[in-house]
Amino acid sequence: MRDHPFVKERLFCPGPTPVPSEIGIAALHTDVYHRTDTFRNDFLECRRLLQPFFGCSEAPLILTSSGTGALEAALVNLTAVGDSILVINGGKFGERWEKIGKAYQCQVETYLIPWGTCPDVNQLVAKIKALPRCKAVFFQANETSTGVAYPVEELTKAIRKNSEALVVVDAVSGMIAHRMEMDAWGVDCVVSGSQKGFGIPPGLSFIGLSKRAWGQLSDRPRFYFDLNKERKGQESGETAWTPATTLVMSLLVALRQLSMLGPDACEKHHRLLSEASREAARALGLELFPKSHYSQALTAMRLPPSIDGSALIKHCRKSYGAIFAGGQDHLKGKIIRLAHLGMVDQLELLAGIAALEMGLIALGHKHSLGAGVGAAMKVFTHSDAI
Ligand SMILES: *Cc1c(COP(=O)(O)O)cnc(C)c1O
Repeated sequence: MRDHPFVKERLFCPGPTPVPSEIGIAALHTDVYHRTDTFRNDFLECRRLLQPFFGCSEAPLILTSSGTGALEAALVNLTAVGDSILVINGGKFGERWEKIGKAYQCQVETYLIPWGTCPDVNQLVAKIKALPRCKAVFFQANETSTGVAYPVEELTKAIRKNSEALVVVDAVSGMIAHRMEMDAWGVDCVVSGSQKGFGIPPGLSFIGLSKRAWGQLSDRPRFYFDLNKERKGQESGETAWTPATTLVMSLLVALRQLSMLGPDACEKHHRLLSEASREAARALGLELFPKSHYSQALTAMRLPPSIDGSALIKHCRKSYGAIFAGGQDHLKGKIIRLAHLGMVDQLELLAGIAALEMGLIALGHKHSLGAGVGAAMKVFTHSDAI
């Protein structure tokens, strides 16, 4: 229940993202049996509509799990015990690849980069050349903890040129906000999740594999996340286990909407919102946390030392219902993350920026009230994108 009748909670955190009512309402279709032609057709339409967002020749599989489940599925199906793998770790989610790899007894080599920075292609190539038997390289399309978008195409092409390793990309927060072209770039496996760019609640994840990856599945024991088994069934819309049927109903509505625009226009929209957010940060005197390669899914801003980020987040939620994400680990209290991922429009983002501005003033930051909102409005009025 709401804490206050006149405070609506609005999600400005990088997942879960807001769910528009028509997408949420679709999940009220509760009494669905999944072994019917009707459901199988809806499921197949979802898979088909996901495909252009992955840019792959074979439609992605839909799994019932949070995003991390699909990360685990990727690693478990593509590696065996003792395999050498390389992980790019530039934040909380790079670290997650590392942890999954270790849990499943891979030999994990890490290319560790400072939080807020982007991997360097030459350093990556040096790392991969030093690992001649590397089975796969794992990294993020968008490191959500720092707001950095990695240049997936460039990194993938460099890996493919210098190694036989499979390229596995976590695009859980990167997809929709950024283009993904698996086939054209040579990416072997891409993972995404429902509660980020797709604007539906958490509980579904998506995984696409290249032909090369399908040809190299490991013989490691597995059960729930057996991609070969899933692939056989999902060809005809049949899932191995009971899927989250209500979420599939929502997914279908969300995908029909996103498909009216297509991947390019979706990316353009997110680019516009991210530009507006960066201009707002500058106008408020907040430094952007990433040094370069700004994410189009979220904007991470460094707070002045005088502002306690945790108090700011609490204040914004209590007074305005605006839910932001703070920093994780050593960044706790030091940054604020404003998401503009999924079904967020210009006016909603302006409301988020307004909440941030009012919160900053309440905590003693000096800026001209409205400066951030005004800067974002300027970006919107001067753009023909929506
Ligand atoms: C949200 C997210 C995940 C998955 O998280 P879940 O909580 O398991 O859904 C994985 N990677 C990135 C980059 C994310 O932003």
